[in-house]
Amino acid sequence: MNLSTLNFAPAVPIPDHLVGEVQSKLAYVDERIASAQISPAGEQISIDLKQPVAESERSAIEEKVQRVVVSMAKGAIRPKVQVLEDYLDRSTPFVGDPMPELMQRGEIHREADGIYTLGPLLTRLIDWFERRFLDLADSFSAKPYRFPTLIPARYLERVGYFRAFPHSLSFATHLRSDLDQIDAFAEGAACDNHDNLNVPPERFAPIQTLLSPAVCYHLYFTLADQLLPPQGVVATAVGNCFRYESLNLNSLERLWNFTMREVIFVGAKEFVLENRELARQRMQRVFEEIGFAYRVESANDPFFIGEFRKQAAFQSAFQLKYEIRARLPFKDGTLAVGSYNYHQDFFGRHLNIQLPDGSAAHTGCVAFGLERIAFAFLAQFGFDANQWPLSMQEILQ
Ligand code: 5GP
Ligand code: ZN
Repeated sequence: MNLSTLNFAPAVPIPDHLVGEVQSKLAYVDERIASAQISPAGEQISIDLKQPVAESERSAIEEKVQRVVVSMAKGAIRPKVQVLEDYLDRSTPFVGDPMPELMQRGEIHREADGIYTLGPLLTRLIDWFERRFLDLADSFSAKPYRFPTLIPARYLERVGYFRAFPHSLSFATHLRSDLDQIDAFAEGAACDNHDNLNVPPERFAPIQTLLSPAVCYHLYFTLADQLLPPQGVVATAVGNCFRYESLNLNSLERLWNFTMREVIFVGAKEFVLENRELARQRMQRVFEEIGFAYRVESANDPFFIGEFRKQAAFQSAFQLKYEIRARLPFKDGTLAVGSYNYHQDFFGRHLNIQLPDGSAAHTGCVAFGLERIAFAFLAQFGFDANQWPLSMQEILQ
């Protein structure tokens, strides 16, 4: 028997629509897991461990996996997927995986898992999409904002982020303001063979700050405890976002550090919903112009295990989230390159953002993942300018 793999059936059946969602959570179950797969029909779980472990430990790991399975799959109801646009079968000229070519050209440089630098081609491609997103923002007379990369722990606490997405948090700290601690650090700080910095945790100050997981939260906090103008607020900003994805980090498809452009609406319910819909229609024209293959369908956020079933059902019942899923021909799959979101009055209530009539404001945002949209474009159109949409060929000159 191979002591570094575990194969077993799930304690309750995993419906096929949850297979990907459960599998991605298995990356957070135990640090000894090297990879985890669930068969497409959800009847078999297979775990590779980094090294052989004793039988009792193997049972402990299996038990933790089953906790995830039961919590996420037991009694789960298949959401009705609502498709708003379907252009997945648009024919596009390229079928390869862009990653090897991007590496070989020196267009991307991997600094660590989920952390990449991007070269001129990707940067120009992102700038091209950014101009389209800024046109979208302008069409709503959105006001430009710049938000910090850091976000106070207190803010995320106030909107329940710790309970919903604990697995993907990234914490920021600094050395304690103590000369002995700083001197000791400066003398001895070094990385070991696993790239771990050899600093005892007590040398760090208590954590008050995190790396921001989203752009729009910053706007909601600037509006907290305020009365909104009658015409509502529309804003746009681009920013670095951080979501730790453990073993799921791979290529430009899933980054720890990525960039998001958002157009954000705050106001009455109809104002937010109408603008979210208008934004979708305006982007539909942009994607049509370049012949992008994608579809827009209802989706849910990747809530952590205990919160998943309830929150995902809620999002789907109230049609709170739609994703723009671009086709990736090389893997016959899709990738979420953006989303159209409506939060009802969640932020308005938690942060006391008031409409002129005294009720809580509603919020919504349109968010685009810049690295992902550039990656999906290359996956569909490749590297030969002659194959690109005419309006984009200047990028390669
Ligand atoms: P959402 O708020 O819908 O979760 O994220 C908005 C967009 O940000 C997503 O549609 C996606 O394009 C991008 N995004 C979210 N998570 C990741 C990630 O882990 N890696 C990358 N590259 N983009 C992400
Ligand atoms: Zn947002």
